[in-house]
Amino acid sequence: MRWKRTSGIISAVVGMFVLTIPGALAPPALAQTAAAPPIPELGPPADKRPAPAKPVPAKKLFGAKTRGAALKARAIGYYSRGCLSGGQWLPVDGPAWQAMRLSRNRNWGHPVLVDLVKRLATEAKAAGDWPGLLVGDLTQPRGGPMLTGHASHQVGLDADIWLTPMPDRRFTYTERERVSAVSMLKNTLEVNEKVFTPNVVALIKRAASFKEVERIGVNPAIKLALCRAAGGDKPWLGKIQGWRGHHYHMHIRIKCPPGSDSCRSQGKPKGTSCAVAEKWYADTKAWMEKPKTRPKTKKKRKKRKPKPPLTLADLPQACRDVLAADDLGGPEPIKNVLLPEAKPGRLSAAIAVPRPTPAMRPLEILRRSQAQ
Ligand SMILES: [Zn+2]
Repeated sequence: MRWKRTSGIISAVVGMFVLTIPGALAPPALAQTAAAPPIPELGPPADKRPAPAKPVPAKKLFGAKTRGAALKARAIGYYSRGCLSGGQWLPVDGPAWQAMRLSRNRNWGHPVLVDLVKRLATEAKAAGDWPGLLVGDLTQPRGGPMLTGHASHQVGLDADIWLTPMPDRRFTYTERERVSAVSMLKNTLEVNEKVFTPNVVALIKRAASFKEVERIGVNPAIKLALCRAAGGDKPWLGKIQGWRGHHYHMHIRIKCPPGSDSCRSQGKPKGTSCAVAEKWYADTKAWMEKPKTRPKTKKKRKKRKPKPPLTLADLPQACRDVLAADDLGGPEPIKNVLLPEAKPGRLSAAIAVPRPTPAMRPLEILRRSQAQ
């Protein structure tokens, strides 16, 4: 009884109290006029939402193409941001060249570049300077960014030519995958004269003599050796640029060919840069000889975030048409050219430098190149 009475009093007090608070226990419509509740969020909270889909890297799209685009030949864009329309295929074997690393399918280029590689090969052989070219990467069938290696080589105007002479027999497919080029360096600063012969000088000089060639990248030590071998500043040395790496091959870059309106050239290099090469030598040598003091506390290096891969949106608009175009017809680029595999143990013989022929007179070539 006592509890009943007490609870009755409590409920009466609560009732009065409730009536004195405006909005309390009022219908929702009335409550909103007092203070609008927050608008409910749609979907899961921001941190739980899936990230927006990343665009496909352009290297995957271009790397998947096995044939050139059946369009007019055009280099589109810049060496490190573009693609190749109407690319032509350099035959894997020619009278004075062999293409290497066939599995990469990068023996494609703008017809002007393909023609230049053939001319360099045949002319150097005919002159007795070089027994034949081992040709590294040109570009993919439709150019563009690549799945591995190279930031440039995208527009079909770059070619890597090994500085190792071609042997006097055809390599098999496997050999073309495995045989290594020979480094021209003895150490960071100097070339190895056993392999960096006057014939190599003559080959690079010949490559620079083509009007289509705008620059040739070689290791700074090679650039310096060329300046010294040439005996002073010669105009052809202007095209030779000291680039890191590049001690196994030279990187030939040609200018935008006619008809490639949307191609952007790098421009002519200024001067012969032989003085730059000498300065590089002095600075690098001084740095190498300087005693290194180790800091007591190791500073943590900040890791650089890798650049996101190029997407189609980063490339010129015309590259979309190149991707969408039909395949170029013609014979299968690599089929029917394979030789029976070499017997085990022949690999070492394959990289042997060929015997000099009477036509290859290194000293005379060097003297000739110094006289010009
Ligand atoms: Zn290259």
